Order: sequence, then structure tokens, then C-alpha cells
Amino acid sequence: MFFETSLSSFALALTALPLGLIVGSFLNVVILRFPEQLKTRWRHESQDFLGLPADSSEPLSLATPASRCPSCGESIKPWHNIPVISYVFLRGKCHACSRAISIQYPLVELLSGLVTSFIVYQFGLSLMAAYCLIFSWVLIALTGIDYREQILPDQITLPLLWLGLFANLNATFVPLNDAVIGALAGYLSLWIVFWLFKLITGKEGMGYGDFKLLAALGAWMGWHMLPLIIILSTFAGALVGVVGLLLKTRDKQVPMAFGPFLAIAGWIALIWGDTILASYLGAFGL
Ligand SMILES: [Zn+2]
Repeated sequence: MFFETSLSSFALALTALPLGLIVGSFLNVVILRFPEQLKTRWRHESQDFLGLPADSSEPLSLATPASRCPSCGESIKPWHNIPVISYVFLRGKCHACSRAISIQYPLVELLSGLVTSFIVYQFGLSLMAAYCLIFSWVLIALTGIDYREQILPDQITLPLLWLGLFANLNATFVPLNDAVIGALAGYLSLWIVFWLFKLITGKEGMGYGDFKLLAALGAWMGWHMLPLIIILSTFAGALVGVVGLLLKTRDKQVPMAFGPFLAIAGWIALIWGDTILASYLGAFGL
């Protein structure tokens, strides 16, 4: 019986893989284009506010124009746009100009594919799985955007927060009380750290986007998961920061985005948080 169940979960996970890869390919578009859309909008608003003539830059949309090679402008054929597989077949190069294609594309697709399969394997075809999939895909997009541009757009973090509260209306992950307090405490805890850090050092260690992302994570998982998320993300961030400095791959003057670490810690907490907390508290006989 157990064997049969795990076999069908495995078949389900395998079926979900192409879906995850295709979503990953869409996430790539969001990661690249959404910040550009925002910048165009901000520029137009600033020009309008300052009474300057508006530039005529074309507003980019997620659907148009069709994907092009950033170096030679050759439009990308549908059969060159198959997640991961095309990258391998093209050996990571544009077929027209042979310039290297960013490794970001296959990495995001692969990550999205694996995460999607894993969630379907864990939760089957359930409402829980659907929520977890949306949560994971949004975190991948936020991680990519924050890594590239050091912004966590409100247009993504705030809907994530609302969706977390909505999911917990009938306690999908935690009771609604815990979710509301989680959202408040998530925002305030980083807000306090931000202002203490700023008062003491005069520097800004993170951005308001980070507070909103932690508020969203609190809305999904409740306040009791926040300490774990903060510890995991701070530890991972410090580790990557120190290793980057030691290997000299990172410039000390360039601020490091904290969002990706919050996102990874948040994802771990959603999937294994209860297990981690239970074994940690168990170790102290609590
Ligand atoms: Zn090219």
C-alpha cells in the first residue's frame, strides 16, 4: 500500500515537472521585464511631476514584444524557447550571434520545475499544494528581481501578504489570529532593526521591501515561525556575505540584497518549519 502511494505520488510529481519548467520560463520574463516596466513608469511619473517633457519610450509589457536576443536582436524561435532543453541544445549560445545566453534562464526554469514537482509530491493534488505552488513561484520571482535590481516591488509583496491572510481565513496553514499577528510582527521586527541600525551606524541595512516580504511570510505561516525565518536568513546572508568577501567575488561597498535570503528561509519554514521547531523544542524537553 505504501509502495503504491509513493509510486503514484512520484508519477504525479513527474507529470508536474513540465508545468514547473513552463512557469519558470514565464518567471524569467517577469524577473527581467517587470523591473523595467516599473522604471519606465517611475520615469514618466517623475517627468510629469517635474513638468518635464515626457520621453516616448515604449512601455514594455510582459507579453510584447516577443523575446529577442539581447545582443543581436534576433527574435527567439518557439523551438529555441523550450525550457532547459533548448539551452542545452544551443550549448548556452544564441543560434544567430553565438553570444552566451545568461545561465539565469535555465537555472530559474530548473528551480521552478524541481520545486513544483517536490510540492506536488509532498501535498498531492490539494488546495494546500495550489497555495504552496503560488507561494513558491512568487518567491522565485522576488528572489530574481531583488538579486538583479535590489528591489522587492510592492506590486508583488503586498498581494502575497493578502493571499496569505486569505488562505488562513479557514486556517489552511495557521489560525487567522496567528496570521494577522504574524504579518504585523514580521513588518515591525525588521522595521525596528532597520531604525536601530540606522540610528547607531547612520546606514540603511535593508529596505522597506524586506519588511513587507517578512510581513507576507508572517501572514502565511504565523508569528511563531518568524524567529526561525529571521535566524535562517541572517545566518545564510552572513555566510554568503563573508564567503563572497573572502573569495573577493563581492564588493564591500555594494549592498547585498536581503530578499533572496528571506525568500529561501521562508520557503524552508513553510515546508519544514514545523518539523524543525518540533525537533528543536524537543531537544530542550519542551
Ligand atoms: Zn544573438
